Amino acid sequence: NKQILLKSRPVGEPKESDFTLAEAPISQPGEGEVLSRTIYLSLDPYMRGLISEGESYAANVELNSVVVGGTVSQVIQSNHPQFQTGDFVLSRNGWQTYAVAKGETLRKLDPNQAPLSYSLGVLGMPGLTAYTALLDIGQPKAGETVVVSAASGAVGAVAGQIAKIKGCRVIGIVGSDDKRDYIVKELGFDVGINRKTQELDAALKAAAPDGIDVYFDNTAGVILETVLQQINLGARIPLVGLISEYNATSAPPGPNLRPLLIKRALIKGFLVSDYQHRANEFVSDVAGWLKSGQLKYQEDVVVGLENAPRAFIGLLRGENFGKLVVKVSED
Ligand code: NDP
Repeated sequence: NKQILLKSRPVGEPKESDFTLAEAPISQPGEGEVLSRTIYLSLDPYMRGLISEGESYAANVELNSVVVGGTVSQVIQSNHPQFQTGDFVLSRNGWQTYAVAKGETLRKLDPNQAPLSYSLGVLGMPGLTAYTALLDIGQPKAGETVVVSAASGAVGAVAGQIAKIKGCRVIGIVGSDDKRDYIVKELGFDVGINRKTQELDAALKAAAPDGIDVYFDNTAGVILETVLQQINLGARIPLVGLISEYNATSAPPGPNLRPLLIKRALIKGFLVSDYQHRANEFVSDVAGWLKSGQLKYQEDVVVGLENAPRAFIGLLRGENFGKLVVKVSED
């Protein structure tokens, strides 16, 4: 069994010397287990997190153990009633030629439905990512403008094309002219932007003169920073990937968005002016709580209009204690 083991935890960009090729005997399947031969191994950005130390959204790879990864495999020997020798399965054999797995962790694949490798991409995890993040979080509506980063990749290419199917204007951000030509000419994106040769801010303004309604974010970093300056009222941003930071050796400037992604947290912009329709319900609840003593309120009263400037300056320094009001005349 040929295996690739993690030899050292990469610092910055991974090096070939962080990995080592090893040979091990092929394990025998136990009760309920299946031995399979790896046909396709998926390589995905999340693996960068798994080979380093620190929090990621799956367990980290131990040093000197096989690097993990999704695979399409063929059953060699099965001790599980649902699998026969010769079956094709979606498995997680990792970076090795053979592996034993519990039958419950495998999913049978139909080689007549689509090329087997598609279940690692467009019909697998990356496709599901594109489909659900775009439709459930992005909620694109016909006529809206959708921007996708890493747009020629496994996730981005699917997300952008689904947005086209939903009737949107779709702009893809990529890292080369070949990729730009591909997303526009082959995939039908309306505009492609090469982030390495074009000025992103100006290119986005030209491509999305009416602003951006959905940003499918695969990268975070400067692309997110630039897009945010051009979003429309009520825009939706599925935060899907942070690939611009995966090799970073120190925290990038600005807020760290990783916890948002890992904890599936929601940040939503708020303006009170959108909530005037709740005013009656609000006054009745809060007046009741004040009366019952469940809610307390403190005012900081400054007497005399002439003191307003100083009080205002104090407000910004934290000198007020409670709601600052100026008593201008007797009530
Ligand atoms: P891709 O096939 O898109 O490959 C990665 C691409 O990212 C590269 O080809 C490159 O494209 C782009 N890229 C690399 N470095 C940078 C950078 N510094 N700034 C901007 N772009 C960069 O990978 P996937 O489609 O598999 O994954 C895309 C993203 O989706 C990743 O961030 C991944 O982690 C995330 N993801 C998240 C999931 C989730 O559950 N949250 C599930 C699956 C994926 P280019 O040359 O065009 O810039």
